[in-house]
Amino acid sequence: MELPFAESWRIKMVEPIKKSTREEREQWMKEANYNLFQLRSEQVYIDCLTDSGTGAMSDRQWAAVMMGDESYAGSSSFFHLKETINKITGFEYVIPTHQGRAAENVLFSHLVKAGSIVPGNSHFDTTKGHIESRKATALDCTIDEAKDTQLEIPFKGNVDPKKLEKALAEHHENVPFIIVTITNNTAGGQPVSMQNLREVRAIADKYGKRVVLDSARFAENAYFIKTREEGYADKTIKEIALEMFSLADGMTMSAKKDGIVNMGGFIATRHEDWYEGAKRFCIPFEGYLTYGGMNGRDMEALAVGLDENTEFDNLETRIHQVEFLAGLLDEYGIPYQRPVGGHAIFVDASKVLTKVPKEEFPAQTLAIELYLEAGVRGCEIGYILADRDPVTRENRFGGLDLLRLCVARRVYTDNHMKVIAAALKNVFDRRDEITRGVEIVWEAELMRHFTVKLNKL
Ligand SMILES: *Cc1c(COP(=O)(O)O)cnc(C)c1O
Repeated sequence: MELPFAESWRIKMVEPIKKSTREEREQWMKEANYNLFQLRSEQVYIDCLTDSGTGAMSDRQWAAVMMGDESYAGSSSFFHLKETINKITGFEYVIPTHQGRAAENVLFSHLVKAGSIVPGNSHFDTTKGHIESRKATALDCTIDEAKDTQLEIPFKGNVDPKKLEKALAEHHENVPFIIVTITNNTAGGQPVSMQNLREVRAIADKYGKRVVLDSARFAENAYFIKTREEGYADKTIKEIALEMFSLADGMTMSAKKDGIVNMGGFIATRHEDWYEGAKRFCIPFEGYLTYGGMNGRDMEALAVGLDENTEFDNLETRIHQVEFLAGLLDEYGIPYQRPVGGHAIFVDASKVLTKVPKEEFPAQTLAIELYLEAGVRGCEIGYILADRDPVTRENRFGGLDLLRLCVARRVYTDNHMKVIAAALKNVFDRRDEITRGVEIVWEAELMRHFTVKLNKL
């Protein structure tokens, strides 16, 4: 018989996790004001809050930690990291930063001015924040198909070339660069095709513009190109990554995702003028150029993480696990954003808790129910996260109301995926009995989801 699929690693060190009783969880949830960010991690059995900085490093990465050179200037660990990035991306200039948003802060300080317009595909929150805080505009040019949660297309993260062309025709004088997020996190970890990157390049060239890749999950994007796009099946992940970056001018990177480290990031570019410009902001914001917010040991671990995670087997193990969880939800008939992306499942809460009015936040209610059911922590990506309209101060109910279940890299086994799916099924089976949600008793003006206090109705 055909051998079943299995992980491309074995386990060398374990971290015990604790189950709890429903009574305990009810108490803890109440003490946390029904906000899952306010729980202590020991109160969580399986943590699906985020895939950012939550991955497990390999034995090679831990060994590299011991080789960290903590010299203030000229650290050999910086050069190891730089050479790895040069090889994987083809970009010559590298600036390390403490995480992805810091890379954005440093690069955008040089490039984005008041009145700038930065077109892209569903800019990530921090990316948008670093554009808008400079009185500039993040112009979303994602394909319309990304909004339909049930539509199955292979590259649902793509930029719409027509929207991009229109944006440049109208605003090219104010466009400092185009930014393409791979994979498209906000649209559900959906990939961008090589063909689409080529189209973006052609439009950028027509208007003499440069392209930045927001590359937090570039390796997962390369995996999807290999497995879904014609002509790439026989190419290695490293060849595909190099081709993706050859179509861009620079990148910002949150190494907490596809670098499989717990903290870190960087900027890389082929243009000396961008490097010289960004350098001036790295020193005051992040630190000297050969550490820029990272320890030597962390740069060593990142160099190894980037190399390992651009190997097919590691990525196949990861994506297979996310797909395994999605397959269980299919079996149970639980609706989520399709097809499943690279790092998370986005359950469509408005299609599950149909009796909970939107004013009572169905996705947050589902997140609470799932936690109470089995100690599984997900994250609301919905009406609470959407904040209020800055002008009318009304809640924004226009977008999707989703429960995101992130899968940490190399952390949980498929048995944990079975627990997550079964817990969600139990909630799903009694969905019609869940008729009330939550109300807000206290909220911050911006980014309220982290600290909001809720009351269960
Ligand atoms: C996480 C992320 C960022 C920001 O990176 P941090 O390391 O969290 O600061 C930027 N863009 C994308 C697409 C991300 O997923």
